[in-house]
Amino acid sequence: MGQEVDFDIVVIGGGIVGLASAYKIQLHHPETSIAVLEKEEQLAAHQTGRNSGVIHSGLYYKPGSNKAKTCAKGRKELIAFAEEHNIPYEICGKIIVATQEKELANFEEIFRNGLENEIEGIEKIGPGEIKKSEPFCCGIAGILVPCTGIIDFTEVAEKLGELIETGSQGNKVLTSHKVLGFEKHNSFTKVVTNQGTFAARYIINCAGLHCDRIAKLDGVEAGVKIVPFRGDYYELTEEARDKVKNLIYPVPDPAFPFLGAHFTRKIDGSVECGPNAVFSFKREGYGKTDFSFKDCWDSLSYLGTWKMFFRHWKYGLGEYSRAFSRRLFLRQLQRLIPSLGAEDIKPGNAGVRAQAVGRDGKPIDDFRIERRENSIHVLNAPSPAATASLAIGDYINQIATEHFRI
Ligand SMILES: Cc1cc2nc3c(=O)[nH]c(=O)nc-3n(C[C@H](O)[C@H](O)[C@H](O)COP(=O)(O)OP(=O)(O)OC[C@H]3O[C@@H](n4cnc5c(N)ncnc54)[C@H](O)[C@@H]3O)c2cc1C
Repeated sequence: MGQEVDFDIVVIGGGIVGLASAYKIQLHHPETSIAVLEKEEQLAAHQTGRNSGVIHSGLYYKPGSNKAKTCAKGRKELIAFAEEHNIPYEICGKIIVATQEKELANFEEIFRNGLENEIEGIEKIGPGEIKKSEPFCCGIAGILVPCTGIIDFTEVAEKLGELIETGSQGNKVLTSHKVLGFEKHNSFTKVVTNQGTFAARYIINCAGLHCDRIAKLDGVEAGVKIVPFRGDYYELTEEARDKVKNLIYPVPDPAFPFLGAHFTRKIDGSVECGPNAVFSFKREGYGKTDFSFKDCWDSLSYLGTWKMFFRHWKYGLGEYSRAFSRRLFLRQLQRLIPSLGAEDIKPGNAGVRAQAVGRDGKPIDDFRIERRENSIHVLNAPSPAATASLAIGDYINQIATEHFRI
């Protein structure tokens, strides 16, 4: 006889990855009881609610990678989900713009990647067509990506939460429940929270910026550490909003695809510019001077962090100087829109990325999901994980179906 449990599965983390995973398992296994435990008072309080709100096409990612496989699939599912549940979204398209000759090699590679990943409708455009799409933008060559869109991922997360709870009587989405530890037993795990203990047959760790810590509490030696990178945004003033029609991106450096400030029209009509990417002294610290001794110690006592710093110090300094100098931030934005002035931008939001870094100092590029006997750990889910979330949920459901007795 098995032990009586409170839930078959406990998912840790009420961000979009945890919620999409719980939702997909519930759809395929309606008899399985699931609890999602979220430490904050509301869902999507961290990466999910503080991102750019872009439905990515899947153009950049290495063909065959988990990112490439799940992004385009997740995008299509996300749009169908938004349609079904009346969540506002827009497929407004974006342009990637090269402004200097030296960017053209990366530009060509990205285009080839896009073709290999079978991204619908992409085409190269010249300076005239760039101007036609974005009258204030200047560039020497562009890639038009018509299937990119915008959405509010918090709304998606909230809808998923609602569907998980209404999907089965036994399911719960519990906010203000912080997971503090686990007591392991043979056939179940006691999940200890600040609001009591729940016995679960299986646990799924989707704790974002804290996923490495949750993995460690479960006795999993992940071999990676989350190093937090803050991204600060500016916003266009209302008067300047007409300088951007949709989404304008620079050509990324393949080594740092998340670097390079871009312009993003959001679903609420505001236009964000940024972000930069600087080492954050606090995992959930959104202010420039936020600091946590614990988080700092965790990052700086890890050899991988130092190896990464030594390898990329030049990039790091550049990003830091832009974090503290509006003039330098503006100069980067002016590469795409030369007429942008200091009076056109004002400080906006910030987000912190959970970037897993290996002991060798290399940022883990692809999504990383690992299974243990009674648990699944999402150890790296950076961008485009919000776009890909429903496809990641499918993948996690597949692992659970194959390996858990549900
Ligand atoms: C600045 C920025 C811009 C981005 N832009 C985009 C974009 O435009 N498009 C896109 O597709 N992706 C984007 N991303 C990436 C995307 O936001 C993330 O990949 C995605 O949100 C990850 O979701 P998650 O559920 O793994 O993490 P999170 O949203 O961070 O959720 C993890 C949750 O776990 C909870 N948690 C942690 N520890 C515990 C604990 N002990 N007990 C209980 N709960 C716990 C946290 O409170 C949190 O709510 C961006 C990310 C950032 C930071």
